[in-house]
Amino acid sequence: MTWQQRYESSVMNTFGTPAVALVRGEGARVWDTDGKAYLDLFGGIAVNALGHAHPALVQAVTSQLQTLGHVSNLFTSEPQVALAERLVGLFGHDARVFFSNSGSEANEAALKLTRLTGRSHVVAAHGAFHGRTMGSLSLTAKEAYRAPFEPLPGDVSWVPYGDSEALAAAVTDATAAVVLEPLQGEAGVLVPPDGYLVDARRITREHGALLWLDEVQTGIGRTGRWFAHQAVADLEPDIVTLAKGLGGGVPIGATIAGRATAELFSPGNHGTTFGGNPVACAAALAVLDTIEADGLLDHVVRLGKRLSDVVASDPAVVAVRGSGLMIGADLAHEVAPQVVQAGRDAGFLLNATGPSTLRFVPPLVLTDGDVDQFAAAWPGILATADSAGTP
Ligand code: PMP
Repeated sequence: MTWQQRYESSVMNTFGTPAVALVRGEGARVWDTDGKAYLDLFGGIAVNALGHAHPALVQAVTSQLQTLGHVSNLFTSEPQVALAERLVGLFGHDARVFFSNSGSEANEAALKLTRLTGRSHVVAAHGAFHGRTMGSLSLTAKEAYRAPFEPLPGDVSWVPYGDSEALAAAVTDATAAVVLEPLQGEAGVLVPPDGYLVDARRITREHGALLWLDEVQTGIGRTGRWFAHQAVADLEPDIVTLAKGLGGGVPIGATIAGRATAELFSPGNHGTTFGGNPVACAAALAVLDTIEADGLLDHVVRLGKRLSDVVASDPAVVAVRGSGLMIGADLAHEVAPQVVQAGRDAGFLLNATGPSTLRFVPPLVLTDGDVDQFAAAWPGILATADSAGTP
């Protein structure tokens, strides 16, 4: 039996059968079952912050597992407390952290927290992606994801992303929270106009509503700052949710809330068996330590600029946007899936978020040599895709 046949006869068909089965990785490179190498410009959907098999991550997870692998939340462990302290420090304001295992779960915790304000109305944005569990799905915009599972938890108003006036009109004194991605990831890396988050902060304050920023994709160095919202001076959200890059590939989610908001939870309100697991927390600490020790925030800014320039250098690309190593690109024609396929054939893992939109979210440890390799292949990938996509 081929691995495709084994997959299809054992794994639920929620993703379609993947095109490639991967065996191992190192840095920003992965190898498939045939031994073919790929430069990974997708990073497991913005997860592999330190790339693949990073020694610091391997060491942290290995030694933690050898010492203490799991304890439940009836107990705590040094990595859990140390990680909470670190995240509060990076957040920069008095805050508390709730740990979970994924972005969806980080958002579930945040949504439950907003309910404890005594209000239930939440404002979310068109194009938003906040996860697939029922609560987080209730805040995810895409109709195809939502419709089969309705009724979802209700009382959500939708506003165009980046439109401060629409936001001001939607938020009332009955609004519990406004939830926004600082840059929308799944929508194709959409960057809001300058001042949007400041407006969102002002509008929420005026109505006693919480400002909740979903940094599941944008957080932990992806945009060249610890949190994308830190590009805005003095912005203090009430809730920030994290996952993806935080564990560098080891599943972890975190909900950070300012002290007053965090104190809405009391014992018994919420819980999880695995959240804050010492192995996951040790992994996250290794990610944070490595980002700091290796100066990866500055590196991300520099490499992000280089990669954007390369992506934009071909006339088949009509727009490039983003921040750091979170880059979206619009193509002149609807050939994004063909670009992904031509990329794969040429040894690059790429990602399409729509028929003519690509997203680049590579490991933060991407090197200049990696960018050079991609630059040499990019025009050929686009040319192949263009001819494949023209009937
Ligand atoms: N929020 C955002 C902004 C995301 O990009 C994602 C995942 N793409 C999620 C939440 C959900 O995270 P997870 O898949 O880990 O549940």
